[in-house]
Amino acid sequence: MPDSSPSVSVKLQQVLDQIRAVDRDLADLRRLRARVPEGRAFSEPLQVAFDKQINELLNRKISLEELEIEDPDQELLDQLFAVDVATSSRIRVDRAKPVLATPTAQEEQIFAFLKAMPKAEIHLHMEACISKDTLAGMLEKNQVPYKEADLDKLYNFKNLQEFITLFLFIIDSIKTPDDFELVFKNLREYLESNSVRYAEVFLAPSRMVQNGLDFNEIARTLDDLATRCRREGGPDVKYLFDVSRTFGVENASKNLQRILAARADNIIGIGLGGAELMGPAREFKDVFAQARAEGLRAVAHAGEDDGPWSVRDAVEILKAERIGHGTSAIQDPSLLELLKEKQIPIEICLTSNIFTGKYVRQEKDHPVRRYYDEGLVCTINTDDPEIFNVTLTDEYIKLYRHLGFSVSELVDMNRQTFISSFSNDRAKLWKQASAEIAQLREEMQV
Ligand SMILES: [Zn+2]
Repeated sequence: MPDSSPSVSVKLQQVLDQIRAVDRDLADLRRLRARVPEGRAFSEPLQVAFDKQINELLNRKISLEELEIEDPDQELLDQLFAVDVATSSRIRVDRAKPVLATPTAQEEQIFAFLKAMPKAEIHLHMEACISKDTLAGMLEKNQVPYKEADLDKLYNFKNLQEFITLFLFIIDSIKTPDDFELVFKNLREYLESNSVRYAEVFLAPSRMVQNGLDFNEIARTLDDLATRCRREGGPDVKYLFDVSRTFGVENASKNLQRILAARADNIIGIGLGGAELMGPAREFKDVFAQARAEGLRAVAHAGEDDGPWSVRDAVEILKAERIGHGTSAIQDPSLLELLKEKQIPIEICLTSNIFTGKYVRQEKDHPVRRYYDEGLVCTINTDDPEIFNVTLTDEYIKLYRHLGFSVSELVDMNRQTFISSFSNDRAKLWKQASAEIAQLREEMQV
C-alpha cells in the first residue's frame, strides 16, 4: 500500500500533471514537425531541430514516469517543480483573482512608473476592448434581453471554445454602427488609464458585414470617433482592418476593396488575422500586393499557431511590415537572422500567448527575452485586454518580473513600439514621450 498522505498524493498529482504537459508539448511539436514544408532551404535543419526537441521531451517523460512509480527523490522533485507547469486550464479567466501578485515596496515605485510611462500599443483588437459593462450597455441600448449571470459566465471562460463563444457573442452584439460609440468609449478609457498616447487597433469586419452592418457606415463612424478623440486631446487612434485567413481570399479581397472605397483617413492598413492553419500566407499575396500599391500599410499575424515558415512567408511573400506574435520564429535561427537584418518589428503579446498556450506556456519561457537580446525589434502589446483581463501596464510589469527586463530595457521596447508604428508623426510622438519619461524617471527615482 503506498503512503497516501496528502503531501505525497499532491506530489503524485503534480507528476501526472507534468506528464500531461509534456504530452501536450509533444503533440504540438509533432504537429508542427509534420507541417514543415518540403524542399526549402530551412526544411532539413528545422526537421532535425524538431526531432531533437521531441527526443528531449520523450526522455523527460520517461524520467517522470519513473518518478511516478518510485519513491520520489526530493531534490529531483524540487528541480522538476521549479518549472511552473501550465495546464490547459490556463485559458480560464478568473476575474476575482488579481492579475499580479502584490508588489514589494521596491517594485511599487517601478510599477507606478510603468503605469505612468507614456506608451504606444500597436497590436490590439477592438472587439477585445469591450468590457462586460460595455457589452451590457450595448445589449440594453439594442433592447436585447440578457441576464447578468450569463454575461458573468461568458467572461469567465474556461477553455478555448468558451473563449471563442465570448468573442463571437461580442461581435454579434454590435447591431448598428453607432454601437461603436460605446465601444470606442471603452477603448479610450482603456488607453487613457494605461497612458497610451498612440494606438493601432484591429477591427475584423467580415462577420459584422455578414450580420448586415454597412461597411461604409462602420468605417465612417470609427473614422469620426478617432478624429474627435484626437481633437479632444485624447490618444491618437488608427485602424488596421482585418483581411481574415478564416473567410478565404475572396472575402479578404472584398474587404480590401471596401477599405479602399471607404477612403477613411484613420484606416491606414490591413492585417492578416484569423485561423493561421486554415489560410497560408501565399494565398493572400495578391491582396497584400494591391494594398501596398494603394498605399496601405500591411501586417500579419504569423507564427502563433503555425511554425516559423509561416512567419517567413508573411515577410517574403506578403512583404508584411510587422509580424504579430511570431513566437515560433524561435525555432529557426536563419529566420531570426532575416527578421533582424530586415528589422521587421515583432508585436509581442505575452499574456495572450500564455493564454492560448501555443508554443509558450509560462512567462519566463517566452522568446521575447531572446528576440530582444539578439537585436530583433520587439514591440509590447496586449492583443485582447478586456477578454484576457490584462492591461498594457501589466504586460510591462510581467516582462520586468518574469523575464528580467530592466526599466531601461522596458523603456527601450516602448521606444521600439513608438517607432515601429505607422504614424507619420512617430518620431515626434516618441520625442515627446521620451522627454516625459526622462522627467518621470527623475521624479520617481527609477
Ligand atoms: Zn491579435
